[in-house]
Amino acid sequence: MRKCGLVTGASRGLGRAIAVTLAKDLGLHILINFAGNKEAANETKKQIEAEGGSAELMQFRVEDGTLVEKTLSNWILNNKDSKIEVLVNNAGITKDNLMVFMEESQFDDVVNVSLKGMFNVTKSVLTHMVRNRYGRIINIASLSGLKGVPGQVNYSAAKGGMIAATRSLAQEIAKRNITVNAVAPGFVASDMTQDLDVEMLKKLVPMKRFGEAKEVADLVSFIASDKAAYITGEIININGGIHS
Ligand code: NAP
Repeated sequence: MRKCGLVTGASRGLGRAIAVTLAKDLGLHILINFAGNKEAANETKKQIEAEGGSAELMQFRVEDGTLVEKTLSNWILNNKDSKIEVLVNNAGITKDNLMVFMEESQFDDVVNVSLKGMFNVTKSVLTHMVRNRYGRIINIASLSGLKGVPGQVNYSAAKGGMIAATRSLAQEIAKRNITVNAVAPGFVASDMTQDLDVEMLKKLVPMKRFGEAKEVADLVSFIASDKAAYITGEIININGGIHS
């Protein structure tokens, strides 16, 4: 049986680092999900292959529940020699605005990608994992979902929802040998944070720096490994010392 890991939003940023690290550390064949940036997704694939691993691209927008279900059920049907052991729900977007100015669409878009997307993708692989009696589901939440951040009512709501869902699902499927955990990063250097005032924000972090995508990926890799078999329903902070 070929062991696989599905990482959503794996074309760039944290998702790419997670995909490359899971392939290297755990020897998983990686399903690289992305929304539209095929060139970047191919770069992730190249990096995995350069380290001796294997991967394939899997394009869908996580908020499109019908497409997610169709793509994943077809893949599972056509790959009977494979099992998805690890799912990392990483795809996420921000559309920051103070609530008084926030458009309904800014709220809906962020919740649909970051929260509903997690539901869509997880639901589409859950039966497969239950049948295999093994699984690691890792949700990439955020400090924003624990502490709340001004200008991010939409994003904090989505990530807070993800954290609560993590705890619920963990209890539902613990007896099936499937763990469900969330990782809550603080500020990490990526396209998502490139327009922020880094110099000002670094001062708020006790370690006085942003995190690296690889540092988050190493945590995800540990949670996805057999070493973390008894950890479930946890929200693990990785934020250089900013605690909620
Ligand atoms: P990023 O650099 O903006 O990358 C976003 C990734 O998500 C890309 O691969 C993008 O694909 C994909 N994506 C976006 N919308 C999607 C959709 N509708 N369906 C499928 N894929 C989609 O973001 P990042 O900083 O790596 O963030 C990754 C995750 O970490 C997010 O959930 C974010 O909320 C969380 N996080 C980040 C930070 C941080 O400081 N960076 C902190 C806390 C939490 P395309 O390339 O195809 O557009």
